[in-house]
Amino acid sequence: MFWQQDLETIDRKRLEEVQTGRLQDTVQRIWDNVPFYRDRINSAGTKPEDIKSVSDIKKLPFTSREDLLKNYPFGLVAVPRESIVRVHTSSGTTGKPKAIFFTKNDIDRGAELISRCLVMTGMRKNDVLQNMMTYGLFTGALVMHYGAEKVGVLVVPSGPGNTDRQIALMQDFKTTAIHITPSYALYLSNVFIRKGIDPRKDLNLKRAYLGAEPYSEETRKKIEEFFGIDVFNSYGLSEMNGPGVAFECQEKNGMHLWEDNFLLEIIDPATGEQVSDGERGEMVLTSLCREGMPIIRYRTRDLASVMPGKCPCGRTHRRITRITGRTDDMFIVKGVNIFPQQIENVLMGIKGVAQNYLIVLESLDHMTVQVEIEKELFDGNVTHLVNLQNAITEKLKNEILVKPKVELHEPGSLPASEGKAQRVIDNRTL
Ligand code: ADP
Ligand code: ZN
Repeated sequence: MFWQQDLETIDRKRLEEVQTGRLQDTVQRIWDNVPFYRDRINSAGTKPEDIKSVSDIKKLPFTSREDLLKNYPFGLVAVPRESIVRVHTSSGTTGKPKAIFFTKNDIDRGAELISRCLVMTGMRKNDVLQNMMTYGLFTGALVMHYGAEKVGVLVVPSGPGNTDRQIALMQDFKTTAIHITPSYALYLSNVFIRKGIDPRKDLNLKRAYLGAEPYSEETRKKIEEFFGIDVFNSYGLSEMNGPGVAFECQEKNGMHLWEDNFLLEIIDPATGEQVSDGERGEMVLTSLCREGMPIIRYRTRDLASVMPGKCPCGRTHRRITRITGRTDDMFIVKGVNIFPQQIENVLMGIKGVAQNYLIVLESLDHMTVQVEIEKELFDGNVTHLVNLQNAITEKLKNEILVKPKVELHEPGSLPASEGKAQRVIDNRTL
């Protein structure tokens, strides 16, 4: 079933016409109303009338995170102050927050995108969504909330934390879906184990929407199996609406990026040149419908690739792969580039490994991987533990080409997070 079938299955040629028109409008609006962009576009030697097709996007300058910070708070607002009805800031995973402003139309449009996503995964009016993202300045919870209400779903605005209450709410309201970060979902499963709750038998859960931070396919499988549900990947960022930018359909094979609202480019982060479909690079996004604060060619720093081919679900919007990291979360040990995601992929595929892990950078040449192990193993035979430790070390070395020190920890002993997880601790003094 579709929420907006005509738009979701739009013919690609028609889509391009729509994108061109919206790109032209966006460029004209920021040229007229945002002095920062007028200067930037002018310095790139471009005028609004030079944008004749989508490929002319290359004539426009990039927008960086620093540009947003420099223009904090109102520098990029393109409408009169009275038209702004909401502000969100990013969660600040990487430093100072960025402020993003929304008009009433921006909020409605963002909610429509979420409605598309939810209906696409099978959500209907009689579903109950427990929204376990942080309410407040962060876009995660509120944007999802509005979209779910539009579908007619009953929303339980629980926010994260207070696990006992979460469980009670799930039982009392017969929650069928949760919106949650992967790290909190893993933490929650630990608590369920401790309390002897079997979500497959004791709850009514059917689906979970996991986003806001990278996680691996193995983590998805682990959560699906434990809860007995379908997990759908949800990608978004405050700069482009919050959640609802790209979302998995029931194929669970790549996230449809709503291209009538966002223009997608994937570039080589070093050269800024576009790469071909199937090649991994940095996602660059342009908002095509934003009124309050349009942003062009935003360097997301998120790494992904476009999946070639058509999706069997019939939606024509291209799919992106799982985000495999941010250009800025890569670290180097012994001269080798390593992403935390590679480590998670390996760990979550090993039997006996529990929910949580932490990477500690000790020096330029040494790193430690602390990993939680299932309780039974910890209480059992020491030889088994040593064998497991060696197996983890070996598998990690094969993947990242550097041999880490591996420490095994009891379940629940490593720091857990309700919001975005911090996976890397950098103890290097350079
Ligand atoms: P920030 O984390 O930069 O303060 P946001 O709260 O807007 O800002 O979070 C957006 C970022 O979260 C994205 O740029 C991306 O790095 C990450 N993110 C969001 N959804 C996903 C997802 N499904 N998979 C991986 N990373 C994600
Ligand atoms: Zn699909």
